[in-house]
Amino acid sequence: MPDDPSDASSFRAPPAPTDLRRPGPESCAALAAWDRGHVWHAFTQMQEYEPLLIERGEGCTLVDSDGRRYLDGSASMWCNVHGHGHPRLDAALVAQARRVAHTTNLGLSNPTTIEFAKRLVEVAPPGLEKVFFTGDGSSAVEAALKMAFQYWLQADPPREGRTKFIAIGEAYHGDTLGAVAVGGVDRFTSVFAPLTFEPIRLPSPGGVCPSTGRPAPTLGESLELLERVLVAHEGKIAAMVMEPVMQAAAGIWIHPAGYLRGVRELTTKHGVLLILDEVAVGFGRTGTMFACQQEGVVPDFLCLAKGLTAGYLPMAATLTTAEVWQAFLGTYAQRRTFFHGHTYGGNPLAAAVGLASLDLFRDEAVLESLPPKIARLGEHLDRIAKLGVVGAVRQCGLVGGIDLVADKGSRRAFPWQEQRGMKACLAARQHGAILRPLGDVVVIWPPLSITLDELDRLCHAAEAGIRAATE
Ligand SMILES: *Cc1c(COP(=O)(O)O)cnc(C)c1O
Repeated sequence: MPDDPSDASSFRAPPAPTDLRRPGPESCAALAAWDRGHVWHAFTQMQEYEPLLIERGEGCTLVDSDGRRYLDGSASMWCNVHGHGHPRLDAALVAQARRVAHTTNLGLSNPTTIEFAKRLVEVAPPGLEKVFFTGDGSSAVEAALKMAFQYWLQADPPREGRTKFIAIGEAYHGDTLGAVAVGGVDRFTSVFAPLTFEPIRLPSPGGVCPSTGRPAPTLGESLELLERVLVAHEGKIAAMVMEPVMQAAAGIWIHPAGYLRGVRELTTKHGVLLILDEVAVGFGRTGTMFACQQEGVVPDFLCLAKGLTAGYLPMAATLTTAEVWQAFLGTYAQRRTFFHGHTYGGNPLAAAVGLASLDLFRDEAVLESLPPKIARLGEHLDRIAKLGVVGAVRQCGLVGGIDLVADKGSRRAFPWQEQRGMKACLAARQHGAILRPLGDVVVIWPPLSITLDELDRLCHAAEAGIRAATE
């Protein structure tokens, strides 16, 4: 068992498991046909889908069925933290599987999930003491929205009028209906508008309004607008929900420093709960364990998912305060229970890996290792920003966003149908990197364990892909 912590520092690429042989060319063709025939891929136009079969992961490298190697430039959809096939994560998973793979957390418990909850509370901002486990980021947000709503009905004294939510323009909170309601990326959500509720929508403080091309409001304007909304709807708002510091899916939009703290001060002043969706930015991505720690903010709800199990297994968590929890206590007959749950919530396999990931953050000093990587990414982005087709670059921690534009001076966009962002990412595959764009924003989002050398190669591949797709 490679679970000796001293192995960790020398971790690069574990040997391929001997019991899993690479599929031969015939079976690859069959798999690709079955993939096209039967697998409905997320966020993918299946008529245009071209299979790429990833057969193995080794550290920050993904290996396809032909043996070609690619750096994982999207951290396997923003999840992976310590690399693929990390011996300590693998060992934790196997050890838990030998005990029990799943029971249920509906009225039962298991040692691993209990320990994970306790460790999460220890690393979370102070005051977030209660952990509600779900299965994915969307359900972590759903749970927070429903808890916030029910909290006011059962608060002492009850405040039944607090039924509205404040959300931010171009926000992304997931794809279940409650999360879609508070989401603001129109190209994802507008078709489902008839099925959802309307939040009070504030313009994003961190981007360019795509419909008008107008720059985001200033910090002062954003906070003034929020206060006006809070006053206008005094006593009517249950909670405000937002992605702190960076709106990822919007296109790596970064909020001005001080916005988050201002939001916390104003929501506290007006008695409105604050839900922070750290599904994308949690677990070191912005340079601190949680993004809210950059501004010393403690929310009422903290939603975690993607990096929670370091990119191994689906699991999410909604952390909240003793005050919120208290409002749900009572006898069963008092009907104060939170009647909400997901079958696999708190799954012990996922909890075991999550625990091992927290150990790695400590033992491999992951957060301390980030500043040189963040600086190096910044140097690459500065160089890429000079390309004629790049309108702007943005960086937050170990994430980069590169805007591709048809005209650098006016920042005029390419016609969206041309899918330049997607083409640049597909071209980067020829240069050994897997990247995923957000519209015409090329995103660089590697595992936190990426080495400086790998980061250099990844950024050069991104640049080569951009050149190929825009010449
Ligand atoms: C990915 C994401 C979600 C949704 O998470 P799923 O696990 O895909 O349901 C929610 N919020 C943010 C900020 C995200 O980036």
